[in-house]
Amino acid sequence: MSTYGIDLGTTYSCIAHLDSNGNPEVIRNNEDDSNTVASVVFFENENNVVVGQAAKENVETDGERVVQFVKREIGKPESRTYEFDGKTYTPVEISALILTRLKNLVEAQGGMIEDVVITVPAYFGLEERSATRQAGELAGLHVLSLINEPTAAALSYCARQFQEDRTILVYDLGGGTFDVTVLKMSMTQNDSGRDVQKITVLATDGDDVLGGKDWDDKLYNHILHACCDENGLTPEEIEAETRQDIRSKVEEAKRKLSKKQSSKVRIDVNGSRTEITIKRGDFEQMTSDLVAKTMNFVDAILDKVPAAEIDTVLLVGGSTYMPMIINAVESKFPGKVQQHDPDQAVAKGAAIYASMLVEEVGSPAAQDSQTSDGETLHAEQLTSKFTVEDQTPRSFGPGVVDMNGAKHKYVLENFIKIGEKMPAVFTKTYYPLEDNQELVRLRAFENISTDDTLIPCVDEDGNPQATDPAYKVKLLGELIVNLPPNTSRDTPIKVTFKVDASGVHVEAVNTKTDEIFETFLRTESDIDVERSAVHQLRISSD
Ligand code: ADP
Ligand code: MG
Repeated sequence: MSTYGIDLGTTYSCIAHLDSNGNPEVIRNNEDDSNTVASVVFFENENNVVVGQAAKENVETDGERVVQFVKREIGKPESRTYEFDGKTYTPVEISALILTRLKNLVEAQGGMIEDVVITVPAYFGLEERSATRQAGELAGLHVLSLINEPTAAALSYCARQFQEDRTILVYDLGGGTFDVTVLKMSMTQNDSGRDVQKITVLATDGDDVLGGKDWDDKLYNHILHACCDENGLTPEEIEAETRQDIRSKVEEAKRKLSKKQSSKVRIDVNGSRTEITIKRGDFEQMTSDLVAKTMNFVDAILDKVPAAEIDTVLLVGGSTYMPMIINAVESKFPGKVQQHDPDQAVAKGAAIYASMLVEEVGSPAAQDSQTSDGETLHAEQLTSKFTVEDQTPRSFGPGVVDMNGAKHKYVLENFIKIGEKMPAVFTKTYYPLEDNQELVRLRAFENISTDDTLIPCVDEDGNPQATDPAYKVKLLGELIVNLPPNTSRDTPIKVTFKVDASGVHVEAVNTKTDEIFETFLRTESDIDVERSAVHQLRISSD
């Protein structure tokens, strides 16, 4: 089967498909003896680029030639680029290298890869989404669709067992990010009148700089200090090589503590061998603040969806292998917690979704089969029982002048609100600010507020201003509308915003001339620095 699901993670990526029995299966990374590929790229020289564990091993020794956590940069307007051997790489290109490595895994095992679904965090805006899609295409993949990570995780769990309506909390603690999402799975009818499960996101929150790496850092410091104590040294007296040695052993030690009560590491401290034993209890104590931090996010989301309404809690992400996480979540939701291959669930869900999209029902895969748990899965259920209702990941709207009141205010009118069903379309009529105006620079914004208007939204220079930073107001670009000579200030200009999975489309129509304007200048850098209040539209004050 040539359809695959890809979890393009901040620290680890994973690729899965449905096997010949129709069950989700991860493609092994034999080189690293793992189910995942480290999302790390090492530019060894101009002829050799390494992706995966081998690249990760160069982080300490050759850090300046290693790129990691690139997912944090993708699709950001101010995202940095990387230069190696005279070539410049964008975050999209680096991500494409990781995707190529995943593609090669499939091909090396004799598989053929064509259509893929790539997962993205629920909080990704449209720019990040389109950049992710671009990375897939650059890697030579045909990107059928993107799917939100928690939705994919829910799909992979639910394909196994859920038959009835459910409210599910997905707790996803990865290597560099923490996401908590509440989803609803409910029965509905599709266009052909058949019963299908609909998945909708009710609430989502998280921290994009909180993950397994923070546990690694705590353990690193603990081992460093233990090395000092053992050898009567101060941290400053520990050589760089020794630090590197500790750094490279920390993650392994952490993983061992998920299985065993203690873990031993042997470190060469400035030439003398030192053995440090870490007890699970001590590790749990030194990282309890991190666990508490994740649980604060859980509590915050429970203000929106009461705990009593949560039927099931799914643990997703490699860091949920840690018993301290399982225990903390279990004590908040006794008897409701489920965990099953948490580092693979997202990729498996994406594989199920990909198969659903290409409708492989009727193919050999669509025969009933036994899962490893001995439970019968109906392939047809996997591929046609779900419909994913995509929602707008942000709110969107134009910046316009409000002439009501003593002072003119430049406000953001939220046309389309976060969480609306996609495609979402909204149209409103505005007017030129003054007679004989030649030009309109209509600015489009994204944000996460559900307010109708945000006041004031930008300063003179178009920078997000004064609004609560929590609203994450971001300028997407400008639509240029040229007005003919002698245009009166009463000329209705109809502005339309349309948001679908591929992005935001902004259009303006001069209703006097029926001229349509669609030239949208996307990023901030494309926008002329000259910004004048005269080049705006106004809200009707009549
Ligand atoms: P991503 O953050 O890219 O989505 P994952 O969900 O695979 O990636 O999570 C990776 C994190 O999980 C890393 O910090 C890794 O150290 C951690 N991890 C993986 N397996 C274990 C384990 N057995 N015990 C503790 N942590 C683990
Ligand atoms: Mg992940």
